[in-house]
Amino acid sequence: MSTTSSNHYDQLVSYYQTINHFNHAQAMLGWDAAANMPKGGSDARSNAMAELSVHVHRLSTQPQLADWFANAEQESLTSEQSSSLREMKRQWQQAALLPEDLVQAQSIAGSKCEHAWRTQRQENDWSGFEKNWKEVVSLSREEAKIRGEALGLTSYDAMLDKFEPGTSTASLDTLFSNVKTWLPELIEKALDKQAAEPIILPSGTFSTEQQKSLGLEVMKLLKFDFDHGRLDQSVHPFCGGVPSDVRITTRYDESDFVQALMGIVHETGHARYEQGLPKAYTGLPVGEARSMGIHESQSLFFEMQIGRSKDFITHLSRLSKEAFNAQQNPVFAEANLYQIYTRVNKGFIRVDADELTYPAHVILRYEIERDLINGVIEHTDVPALWDEKMKASLGLSTQGNYKNGCMQDIHWTDPEGKKVAHNYKNGCMQDIHWSGGSFGYFPSYTLGAMYAAQFMSTMNKTVNVEAAIQSGDLSPIFQWLSDNIWSQASLHTTDELVKRATGETLNAAHFRKHLEGRYL
Ligand SMILES: [Zn+2]
Repeated sequence: MSTTSSNHYDQLVSYYQTINHFNHAQAMLGWDAAANMPKGGSDARSNAMAELSVHVHRLSTQPQLADWFANAEQESLTSEQSSSLREMKRQWQQAALLPEDLVQAQSIAGSKCEHAWRTQRQENDWSGFEKNWKEVVSLSREEAKIRGEALGLTSYDAMLDKFEPGTSTASLDTLFSNVKTWLPELIEKALDKQAAEPIILPSGTFSTEQQKSLGLEVMKLLKFDFDHGRLDQSVHPFCGGVPSDVRITTRYDESDFVQALMGIVHETGHARYEQGLPKAYTGLPVGEARSMGIHESQSLFFEMQIGRSKDFITHLSRLSKEAFNAQQNPVFAEANLYQIYTRVNKGFIRVDADELTYPAHVILRYEIERDLINGVIEHTDVPALWDEKMKASLGLSTQGNYKNGCMQDIHWTDPEGKKVAHNYKNGCMQDIHWSGGSFGYFPSYTLGAMYAAQFMSTMNKTVNVEAAIQSGDLSPIFQWLSDNIWSQASLHTTDELVKRATGETLNAAHFRKHLEGRYL
């Protein structure tokens, strides 16, 4: 029966806004725990947040929602309302799919594994880790099977769907096998070229206070909205809070300003996406960021496309000389800062990797977790496969070196996803929390880098990006991002969003061109 009203849809809107208010509180408690809370507050805070999580999960999985969705689908909705309904259903389905006892078992196995991992990794104790991890893998496979059956997807595709709705193994295989054909050679060429280029690394003391004031200057240049957000410190940098009040954090190392400064540029990219989400859909799933990969595309657009460009580094050079009162220090010379921020280094550790070698780390993890979740390999096969793939992609052996090999990442041990670097998305954060298992998350990093390169390549056709950065008024760049990405939130599927913005779906050629332009 079709009606001209949208009573059932409206009922859903107000229900989801209620959920959103609890998510708001949750996000702020989480930010406070990371940025402000004294140690002694930890237990009570954990209990309060756990209680709130249970409450939100209950609201999000109410059985009556199924009827409300069915009723709303009978109403004559605008296309935007239909998108909104689609996203509500998606979140509900994701949250309600798993039986409570599986979620609980995952939480227990994950905490046990992660807790022991902290010392086992330091001690390079694979055999100890393996015993706990076995259970995490087995429960994640169970989760993947349940999700896959409900969604009509293969096991690993169902896990991908949590982070990158619409992305499949087939499309990732195509994209990543393309990258593998040219990346190793490009890395070698870049290393050869850089071997002859001089670099002066920072030495001395860079006070927290000076670094912070530099960070704030850079955020102003990037038009961070300080009426709707702030910068603080935490052990693990993140972008949290809510779109109307975005909280980004960084960590300062007084012997080196390099990482904290670019970290702020990166988190500002996440933050501006959140701040730019459409107000008309505040509190609704359709008003949230599209996916982990698209979120990362915005932070990497800020960091890799803008932040590490020669023109932007001219600003960083000027601002850092001022902040550190170091006009004559050769470290801050434009050409030297550019060297620092584009240096390529083949290393073991993903989180320390540069722009060029990073995809190799991600593709290795993707291939392993894909086969692990699909049951093609067993968890005991992982160290040897890791070694083999590191040798093939970066020429590094990790044989017997588990702590710098397959035991380095926390993602695969932590089913609650709390350690996922950027807990920017309330809905999604809650999603991860309840769905368990961070298998399927790794590809988002490299998808983000690829989307960012594609957005830049399209933007360059209508915006004079170089001139905008040089002038110090980057508004035309942000206007493009706002029109094409931020304001679109989750109105479209990822493929549609990217096609509308760039005329095609994700194409690795743009990423290759960007890297070749910068490193050859
Ligand atoms: Zn990020």
